Amino acid sequence: MYTPPEDRYTKIPYRRCGKSGLKLPAISLGLWHNFGNITPISIGQQILRTAFDNGITHFDLANNYGPPYGEAERNFGIHMDNDWHSHRDELVISTKAGYDMWPGPYGNFGSRKYLMASLDQSLKRMHLDYVDIFYHHRPDPETPIEETMQALHDIVKSGKALYVGISNYSAEQAETAIKTLKGMGTHMLIHQPNYSMFNRTLEKGLCNVLENEGVGCIAFGPLAGGILAGRYLNGVPEDSRAGHDPRYLKPDNITEQKLSKVRSLNTLAELRGQTLAQMALAWTLRNGYVTSALIGASKPQQVIENAQALKNLEFTAAELAEIENILSEE
Ligand code: NDP
Repeated sequence: MYTPPEDRYTKIPYRRCGKSGLKLPAISLGLWHNFGNITPISIGQQILRTAFDNGITHFDLANNYGPPYGEAERNFGIHMDNDWHSHRDELVISTKAGYDMWPGPYGNFGSRKYLMASLDQSLKRMHLDYVDIFYHHRPDPETPIEETMQALHDIVKSGKALYVGISNYSAEQAETAIKTLKGMGTHMLIHQPNYSMFNRTLEKGLCNVLENEGVGCIAFGPLAGGILAGRYLNGVPEDSRAGHDPRYLKPDNITEQKLSKVRSLNTLAELRGQTLAQMALAWTLRNGYVTSALIGASKPQQVIENAQALKNLEFTAAELAEIENILSEE
């Protein structure tokens, strides 16, 4: 029997998601890794419980998280039954469809056929009646945006998702999608782009679109898969993502140039009294572009450490300049 601590809502801030009624924890937990069939289910349970114990009320999934595809949702269904049904109204649970999920022309991209079927499958796997947020996971170059947005609109009307969002859309694509959906009478709640010190695409126009349209932003990969948590400062640990799942973080991408920046950033973090992971998360959340930083974790301790980032989100102008300096080093 799981009993979360009563003071859990005093531990971290909650931020309004764009111009909506929904608040998200400033740090959310993603289940892309560490919830498939290569991680014991007890570890997943500890990570989820630790997150909720620390005020993290938002769990982010997708149809294809695993391995294999669907497994993170299937395991989450087990966690729902064990721990979460009695806390359902305290949780924001999201899932997505947009990448390849099942064979044939109807298991990928952005058709109405795919999105409707995928959400039904996700709900079954997770033992849920509805998700809080359903995302179109990536833009589809072939399906008319009207069809994809109509599917999101109808999904909200059906009650199978309370809100909808998009992910990996460029500034232009996002603006078109948001306006198309708005024309149908549904507000786009949120965009989920990649954003970290190593990926600044959000700052090139997308953040302005989201702000103008009152759409929230949840940044995935704020620790660059662990590189910005200093995970690889002394080689590739066996229990790290690059060590055991190199398909998603190739050791070749952990270059000496990146590590040299990470070392300098680490020194600055120490001066601030934070770990590198904490500073990287605080930086992501520094200026209000981002509603919530969407982290992954392989150990409960990482969740605890990362949640502590929220104790200091302030940067001096000199610190910000120093970070820009480090990031621009050749
Ligand atoms: P992060 O950049 O937060 O990387 C998480 C990894 O960093 C962890 O698995 C762990 O790696 C390491 N880490 C985390 N905290 C610490 C710490 N304190 N100290 C040391 N290492 C740490 O994000 P992810 O790449 O995992 O993505 C997060 C979520 O974003 C996903 O779960 C998913 O929900 C979403 N996402 C969405 C995408 C989209 O297309 N919309 C694409 C990718 C992700 P290790 O395993 O080595 O311990």
